[in-house]
Amino acid sequence: MLRDAVRSLAEAKIAPYAAAVDEEARFPREALDALTANDLHAVHVPEEYGGAGADALATVIVIEEVARVCASSSLIPAVNKLGSLPVILSGSEALKKKYMTPLAKGDGMFSYCLSEPDAGSDAAGMKTRAVRDGDSWVLSGVKRWITNAGESEYYTVMAVTDPTKRSKGISAFVVEKSDEGVSFGAPEKKLGIKGSPTREVYLDNVRIPADRMIGEEGTGFATAMRTLDHTRITIAAQALGIAQGALDYAKGYVKERKQFGKPIADFQGVQFMLADMAMKIEAARQLTYAAAAKSERGDADLTFQGAAAKCFASDVAMEVTTDAVQLLGGYGYTRDYPVERMMRDAKITQIYEGTNQVQRIVMARNLP
Ligand SMILES: Cc1cc2nc3c(=O)[nH]c(=O)nc-3n(C[C@H](O)[C@H](O)[C@H](O)COP(=O)(O)OP(=O)(O)OC[C@H]3O[C@@H](n4cnc5c(N)ncnc54)[C@H](O)[C@@H]3O)c2cc1C
Repeated sequence: MLRDAVRSLAEAKIAPYAAAVDEEARFPREALDALTANDLHAVHVPEEYGGAGADALATVIVIEEVARVCASSSLIPAVNKLGSLPVILSGSEALKKKYMTPLAKGDGMFSYCLSEPDAGSDAAGMKTRAVRDGDSWVLSGVKRWITNAGESEYYTVMAVTDPTKRSKGISAFVVEKSDEGVSFGAPEKKLGIKGSPTREVYLDNVRIPADRMIGEEGTGFATAMRTLDHTRITIAAQALGIAQGALDYAKGYVKERKQFGKPIADFQGVQFMLADMAMKIEAARQLTYAAAAKSERGDADLTFQGAAAKCFASDVAMEVTTDAVQLLGGYGYTRDYPVERMMRDAKITQIYEGTNQVQRIVMARNLP
């Protein structure tokens, strides 16, 4: 029922704008409005804070169905989870109440600020500093590649509170867009997900009350990593949705396109490509849903499974979207058809929330 409802909404209210959002590299406002009106913009927020209380699998299905028509728009529910999960996992009750309530209502999105210009895969090498001053913390530094920066009201920011301790000297904070000293860089000009703004976040002596720290001092990096264990599954869902969208389009196209006097779907070479695409998608779906169940239960092997789902599904998305372009021939290579956008959008799923090389490092360290 959830899938049917989200699919209908996505096809009616999000798909019609997907090409324009990509072409104009603009924020998918129509998608945000449609998702918010239907309580799908941050489905993971627990009911006690006014949220829909969707479990990890339901959240995955929402993201998958939105990504099937518009990958940029799927980053609205996905990044709202990424940005707010540190608060849900480690924040005080007061912090949860303060920030999850407006998020659930649609009064403000959440972003996640871990990466920096010189700290990507090696996130613990970050330089952003938070210094205690009486009842406040003062944050300074630059966060890079922040999804929905400028659009979000709330930012989970990881910053160094003790430079002698590396990852154990990192703490997490909630910073608000309206805090004095917060500003944003120019939007990055990207290959894909062009509707999802990616900008730097500048923190220029941003003074925030001490109770905006998420969890204890020195636990921010652990919280950031624990968050990724859960949210990499949402990137797997995004990849899965992009791949399914490409397969669905190609499936229809091959029945219409005629060469050598018959639909190209009649050629076994084409049928085998479609069979492989569908097989890989189904394998990615099973891995992703199993990982979502583990996320919900908090299973001990979640770290391996989350990394495996993200890595596998994103590689599948890249393969399947490339094959979809191939099946449309020259037409697939143009912006008159959606599959080239899907191929460009798929690429990011192999890069963010840890590159697929990093996922392999994570898996190797946590072999089942
Ligand atoms: C569109 C977009 C949105 C993003 N959104 C966010 C966001 O909202 N919040 C956020 O905090 N970050 C975000 N990121 C950042 C993203 O997570 C990083 O780009 C990613 O982790 C890689 O870091 P890097 O770009 O510095 O690459 P690098 O770490 O410099 O990696 C370069 C290459 O080296 C490889 N490599 C590095 N170390 C190793 C190793 N030990 N072994 C093998 N290979 C290695 C990598 O796999 C990669 O191929 C986003 C990035 C993009 C592009």
